[in-house]
Amino acid sequence: MGRKITPTAQNYAELQAAYDHFNQALYGGTLPTCLITLQREKRTCGYFSSQRFADLDGQTTDEIALNPAYFAVVPLVETMQTLVHEMAHLWQAHYGDPGRGRYHNGQWADKMEAIGLMPSSTGKPGGQRTGDRMADYAIEGGSFLMACAELITRDFRLSWYDRYPAPEVVAAGQESEGMHLSAAVGGGSTPAQGIAVAASLVVRPVVATATTANRSNRLKYACSCGQNVWGKPGLRLRCELCESVFGITNLTEEVDTITL
Ligand SMILES: [Zn+2]
Ligand SMILES: [Zn+2]
Repeated sequence: MGRKITPTAQNYAELQAAYDHFNQALYGGTLPTCLITLQREKRTCGYFSSQRFADLDGQTTDEIALNPAYFAVVPLVETMQTLVHEMAHLWQAHYGDPGRGRYHNGQWADKMEAIGLMPSSTGKPGGQRTGDRMADYAIEGGSFLMACAELITRDFRLSWYDRYPAPEVVAAGQESEGMHLSAAVGGGSTPAQGIAVAASLVVRPVVATATTANRSNRLKYACSCGQNVWGKPGLRLRCELCESVFGITNLTEEVDTITL
């Protein structure tokens, strides 16, 4: 006794606790366990890969990967949103019909909406509901935000953060929908801005201003009809073709590798 839990065990235990919580709260505890991994694939918050691992006894399990580069610089609610988004893919792989490759179909979109996450190609209101590259935003008063609030009251935290987040990751976090949500659900600020994390420990936590903006911290904006533009943080753009507002896609782009 008295021995400190290792960072590895602590990190994965926290992620597993979040998985178990949302499984109970949003999926009635019906989801099988999976193997949660951490990876830094560029511009990807997370992905789901069906039956990705096998053990020596011949059992298989799914993979949900999360990108730790985002943990400190997006609101906690956004990280939980990524987890629950990937859990919706896991649900569909076991109980639904995922369809082809990376396409997020109508059944997936219906499930997301039912658990309190609105699918949107831009991550903002007005985006498309289905597609290859999909994001989502939390529905006010929905099950997802209620489940987040419950998790926060249990002093849930992700203890370990990447100290060297890329500037575009920081910028995307600052402009995420989660920044407009309350602290009670894990929104409004990022862990890097909180008192729990010494600011000096997170390198480059501040969004570069327009004058110091360079190629590396440009953001990718997308509209509802699929046009993409790159530009500095803080741009307000409207598409003349579909008349929708462009939203940032850097934060929300994610790859789903559905294996057979
Ligand atoms: Zn458009
Ligand atoms: Zn997805």
